Amino acid sequence: MTYKAQLTRFIAAAFILPFSLVFSSAFASAEQAQSNTQAPFRISLIHTAQSTGSPEALLVEGGSWVKIRKLVHGSLLIEHPEGNLLFDTGLGRQIDQAFAHNSWWQRQLFAYENVNPALDQMREQGLTERHISAIILSHLHWDHTGGLPDFPNTPVWVQPQGLDQAQHRAHRPAFLPELLENAQWSELVLSAQPYLGFAQTLDIYQDGRLILVDLSGHSEGQVGLFVNLDSGRSLFFIGDSSWVIEGIKNNKPRPSIVDLVSPVDWSRVMNDYVIEKIHNLSVKYPDLVIVPAHDEIVAGSIALFPQYEH
Ligand SMILES: [Zn+2]
Ligand SMILES: [Zn+2]
Repeated sequence: MTYKAQLTRFIAAAFILPFSLVFSSAFASAEQAQSNTQAPFRISLIHTAQSTGSPEALLVEGGSWVKIRKLVHGSLLIEHPEGNLLFDTGLGRQIDQAFAHNSWWQRQLFAYENVNPALDQMREQGLTERHISAIILSHLHWDHTGGLPDFPNTPVWVQPQGLDQAQHRAHRPAFLPELLENAQWSELVLSAQPYLGFAQTLDIYQDGRLILVDLSGHSEGQVGLFVNLDSGRSLFFIGDSSWVIEGIKNNKPRPSIVDLVSPVDWSRVMNDYVIEKIHNLSVKYPDLVIVPAHDEIVAGSIALFPQYEH
């Protein structure tokens, strides 16, 4: 698809979205009502790949040089009576082809292994692409959009400034344009409905269970997701604000050497502010499970697909 066609589709989506959201939500409800009138609200983390490992000191300021971390590339499956969602897609079937365009140095820096795409894992459980009503991306970096080409017909919700950055101000290796070519973009609009100190938010299904908040800093328009389970457990998926939980615990950013080797933060100043905000939140609400997208240890505390938690 040409850029112009893509832009036209995006602009059209911006105007149609308020209607299409209502429509798709109603459609999904009707479809699921037929198959299961008691569709549960539950989540499951799909591990799609992991990094080949690096010292924690390269992931967070003050991290250990001897502790090797193998970061996870995950996709969160959210089943909700009003429509099932994927939050991020991890790495997908076409990741090797897209990643091959990186330089040798970049391929070493972001090396991954054990790819097992979300769609393949879903199919093993008898689920198809149609199981997913929409994909929400925390942001458009390669390791979160890697599975997009596997869902060419699924609406993908992103804040407009995030898409604009990916399409006009993006660079390898953080963004891989091959992964973004045929996605069905839909504009995600947050509004001034404060939630736990975050000004711009969206209560996705208006039931207090899934709340998106703006976390711009690591990228333009990055969003975080609060998941309030019926069990009473609450989780906060914070994208790449920090790669590991130590950044939140200790209120520390990525080491500055990362900026020298391969800058990954759009605005380090804004991301520092986001980290501090999440740090303060974690102090105030010690039971809130903060989930950095790649922290493999925190990921271990979430039900692993095909297990679910309610
Ligand atoms: Zn990122
Ligand atoms: Zn990432």
